[in-house]
Amino acid sequence: MSRIEPSRDPRANSAHNSLVIDKVIPLADHRYRAAVPSIPASANPANGLLTDTLGRPLRDLRISVTDRCNFRCSYCMPKDVFDKHYEFLPHSSLLSFEEMTRAARIFVSHGVRKIRLTGGEPLLRKNLEVLVGMLAALRTPDGEPLDLTLTTNGSLLERKAQALKDAGLQRVTVSLDALDDKIFRRMNDMDFPVAEVLDGIAAAERVGLGPIKVNMVVKRGVNDHEIIPMARHFRGTPIVLRFIEYMDVGATNGWRMDEVLPSAQVIERLSTEFPLQPIDPNYPGETAQRWRYADGAGEIGVISSVTQAFCHDCNRARLSTEGKLFLCLFATAGHDLRALLRDHDGRTYSDEEIAAAIGLIWQRRGDRYSELRGAMQADEGHGEHRVEMHYIGG
Ligand code: SAM
Repeated sequence: MSRIEPSRDPRANSAHNSLVIDKVIPLADHRYRAAVPSIPASANPANGLLTDTLGRPLRDLRISVTDRCNFRCSYCMPKDVFDKHYEFLPHSSLLSFEEMTRAARIFVSHGVRKIRLTGGEPLLRKNLEVLVGMLAALRTPDGEPLDLTLTTNGSLLERKAQALKDAGLQRVTVSLDALDDKIFRRMNDMDFPVAEVLDGIAAAERVGLGPIKVNMVVKRGVNDHEIIPMARHFRGTPIVLRFIEYMDVGATNGWRMDEVLPSAQVIERLSTEFPLQPIDPNYPGETAQRWRYADGAGEIGVISSVTQAFCHDCNRARLSTEGKLFLCLFATAGHDLRALLRDHDGRTYSDEEIAAAIGLIWQRRGDRYSELRGAMQADEGHGEHRVEMHYIGG
């Protein structure tokens, strides 16, 4: 049987397609292009001063700990693609906790100060609190702990909040797209009730995993009428509600611009009921634009990656579930760090060598997909090859 390269379209790698195309051996862990990084012959030691071709530093690392999720939100993992035939990554492909921690330590030497665990649904990864404990023990060169956080759909949070807190997690971001139970169940497409996510948020508050953020992806005509009820619910609490523009990530969600509700309109709608005032970002490169309720009832944010791209100060790197490094959420190819972390071609690589390889990759980075999106002709986009968000991490 000949071995042929699998398609980059995740649908083509699923088991049922391989029954039709009989020569394909599904190689789920090779679904996206990723070259093994080269090790530069000489490199400056990592000192946190690394910048890319646009002068952007490396500060934020997102680690996808699993490509599996128990929700099937149509904008992220639509059920007709991610069905029972879909082949998720085999366990042997996933980075181990030790490999993730080693990679994280090297990234910290290059200036990373914030680590977000994501996925897939990160709380589905067994013993995640062990990884949290290992990452919580890392220190910056100044001896400071990292800003360690996690994004979750909240479904398992009530059960896991205490263990995560005890292990050293500082805070959580919970995704919640509606308060209306019927709409929420339809959006997660697994009939999951909103009450259990709210219980998860309450548990996170109780154990001190704050400040908590709640992310709501707004899809015009689907849940935009939930904007005001969501704001009303979280107003007057320390929880920061953030409205995310529906994005053209991945290749499977059938994204259309007319389903995006621009953040400017979110702010306009909210202002009719609750006057808002803009506030300064907490730090350079913050994804959300912040607003406060004029009456002092708290803060909201909008993440406008479609209508107001924020590539100019993007300082985020993403490590996929199987250890591929991606430099942009909209990337089509990654860099196979796992090959270096796990020994490649009979060679073992030192931390210094891996740091040098990462340094070179970041120095060459010029990605700014969201800024270019508007200027791109429809037919020159690379949508069908884009990496899926559940794999790269949100
Ligand atoms: N399972 C976790 C969760 O639900 O938060 C973490 C992974 S999820 C991919 C991370 C975030 O990405 C969630 O807030 C989700 O709503 C958001 N997301 C996924 N697809 C999106 C899209 N097409 N546009 C905007 N946000 C999206």
